[in-house]
Amino acid sequence: MRILLIEDEALLGEAVAAHLNKLHAVDWMRSIEEASGALQAVAYDLVLLDLNLPDGRGLDLLRSLRKAGRSIPVIIVTARDQVRDRIEGLNAGADDYVLKPFDLDELTARIHSVQRRAAALPSPRFKVGILEIDQPARMVWRGDEEIHLTAREWALLECFVSRLGAIVPKAKLEEALYEFGAEIESNAVEVYVSRLRKKLGSNAIRTVRGLGYRMTV
Ligand code: CA
Repeated sequence: MRILLIEDEALLGEAVAAHLNKLHAVDWMRSIEEASGALQAVAYDLVLLDLNLPDGRGLDLLRSLRKAGRSIPVIIVTARDQVRDRIEGLNAGADDYVLKPFDLDELTARIHSVQRRAAALPSPRFKVGILEIDQPARMVWRGDEEIHLTAREWALLECFVSRLGAIVPKAKLEEALYEFGAEIESNAVEVYVSRLRKKLGSNAIRTVRGLGYRMTV
């Protein structure tokens, strides 16, 4: 999953980015202007939105996203005393909110809950064909056998699971791999898809020539 974090407080932004980066690819932007540019360029899976930003209000950014018909999940991050902002935020189309100061594990739980709702997945542990997946625990089973995935393999699996039955473009998978720190090689998607196939079963992911990949478990 690729997350856009919009936060101008350096210490908080750093802590959140470092925490989420263990599980997800995170881009951290510090202003409305930066964030708008990133949202034009990248198809994020989720946005964490601070409300008071140096060049404007987070709520205005949220409203313009929704006005443009973009249903990307948004979690508002707000100070405890800004009750009115919170209500306004939910009315403006936010999916959830967290209050500052917050526990980083609580934030992760909120993110996964919002993502499950966005992907219409019923519970933390769910079946996908022959696989069983526990998203908060980041565990996968095939039958009784537990399958261990690395962070990058997990990032790809999440891409497939949130788009079950659909073709996932290669660019989308590249985005999921990108931002794990190092530069990614041009054949990174092929490499990681092949690793996933080894772990999930050789028919688990089909190549759709010229278009991308489709999960077929
Ligand atoms: Ca702020």
